[in-house]
Amino acid sequence: MDVSSYVIAPPARAFLPVTGTSQTFPVRRIYCVGRNYVAHVREMGGDESRDPPIFFQKPADSIVQDGSTISYPPMTSNYHYELELVVAIKEAGRNIPVANALEHIYGYGIGLDMTRRDIQMDLGKSGLPWEAGKAFDHSCPCGPIHPVEQVGHISEGSIRLTVDGEVKQDSNLGLMIWKVPEIIANLSKYFTLQPGDIILTGTPAGVGPVVPRNELVGTIDKLGTLRVQISDSETSQRQ
Ligand code: MN
Repeated sequence: MDVSSYVIAPPARAFLPVTGTSQTFPVRRIYCVGRNYVAHVREMGGDESRDPPIFFQKPADSIVQDGSTISYPPMTSNYHYELELVVAIKEAGRNIPVANALEHIYGYGIGLDMTRRDIQMDLGKSGLPWEAGKAFDHSCPCGPIHPVEQVGHISEGSIRLTVDGEVKQDSNLGLMIWKVPEIIANLSKYFTLQPGDIILTGTPAGVGPVVPRNELVGTIDKLGTLRVQISDSETSQRQ
């Protein structure tokens, strides 16, 4: 459709850089997996039963690029980081068998599922949707996507987050309760996956709060680093 046919300027499409090229990965939807590492399930007060994975979404325009400074969000006093492996989808599918799931993956990256924990917990206790705790502006900083041709498929390796140089999360992707192919198989029972979808695959233990001026650095083996700073005022914007 011609741009001049819209009554207002159309919103920009979310994207992520791709390593090794000047082309970018257009982002359609952001799916997130909850409770996918036993030690994190325990720290959140849950048990370690292998319940089916839980899914939620963030809006595509909550993406923040690597190297950005983001503001401390409104309506919270307990703003948390959750470092996660990101899977980028290149091929549509529904009811995808586990054995075929890897064929749908374009590449992998590093993401932060930033969370207004106080809101999430309050809503959860009341049996209400988590949305305001998870799906808010600038809540999804992500690093560049690394194509499978460059890094292969990622199923284990160090996942580590520091805040101002202090190690806060330090685990291994091999400890995921639901592995990436199982996540894709399960998610595609609920939603038809489409090219441009990304999936944040859950966070290991060690989640905690950040405050203005903190610098977060996430690292996953083979996927480089993701660096985000929390600004010292509520007025600064992402890049
Ligand atoms: Mn998460």
